[in-house]
Amino acid sequence: MNVVALEPHGFCAGVTHALRLALDALDERRDAESPLYCLHELVHNALVVSDLELRGMRFVNDLSEVPEESTVLFSAHGVSPTVRAEAEKRRLRVVDATCPVVARVHREARAFVAKGLPVVIVGNPAHAEAIGLAGEVPAPHFVGGEMPPKGARVGVVSQTTMNADDVAETVAKLKEDYAVETAAEVCHATKERQDAVKAFQGDAVLVLGSPNSSNTKRLAEIASARGLRAWRAGTLDDVKAIDFSGVGTLGVTSGASTPESFFRAVLDHLQTR
Ligand code: SF4
Repeated sequence: MNVVALEPHGFCAGVTHALRLALDALDERRDAESPLYCLHELVHNALVVSDLELRGMRFVNDLSEVPEESTVLFSAHGVSPTVRAEAEKRRLRVVDATCPVVARVHREARAFVAKGLPVVIVGNPAHAEAIGLAGEVPAPHFVGGEMPPKGARVGVVSQTTMNADDVAETVAKLKEDYAVETAAEVCHATKERQDAVKAFQGDAVLVLGSPNSSNTKRLAEIASARGLRAWRAGTLDDVKAIDFSGVGTLGVTSGASTPESFFRAVLDHLQTR
């Protein structure tokens, strides 16, 4: 089987930024009595999360689990203003690892609110990034849910890790019914990985990343939509369990939070088996 590494791979700039802040904060608190807390997974990758846990980071799903006056990291996906206000009220020291691209989308949503526009979000309402983003808007509308009355002027923003083509198509559809002001687009790191899968000439694609990683899901969907066989794997054991029979050329790609060391280990395994 011919194995092709699709470019790029390894952490995106936002994940690198979040990890740098996390490791620095852990280092700073090496001798502290209370642990360093992180609200939600820092990034959606189990290998990264378990490594940070081994280094002493404690992950929580709700700010109420963080004792007053402790230090808490906000994940790369960003948080809503309500969470920031609660952290302040409870005198928590905050290390904000929100990806700068996500922070920009929050600013765009706030700008639409300031103009008095209803805000429509293209995204998964259950995803941490979309939840934080929706918190910027008094009455957010998600595409697929309850929408503003037709004919209204609306501001449109999107989660950064959606399928770029779907976002463009959704905005085009919204324009049929609304006067649209849009800032909706996926981030560069997401788009270039999707473009590599779209351009890949081969039989099948293996996507490396954790099951809850949004950009990883999108990569597998894009490969399947092209009629390619597609698998997702979060561990080397997952890869070993895949039956690659009949595959002449396999493309290997990864989500933006998948460690390069795992990507390399999988390539080594596939090339030597
Ligand atoms: S995938 Fe994009 S939005 Fe998410 S952390 Fe990376 S650069 Fe930021």
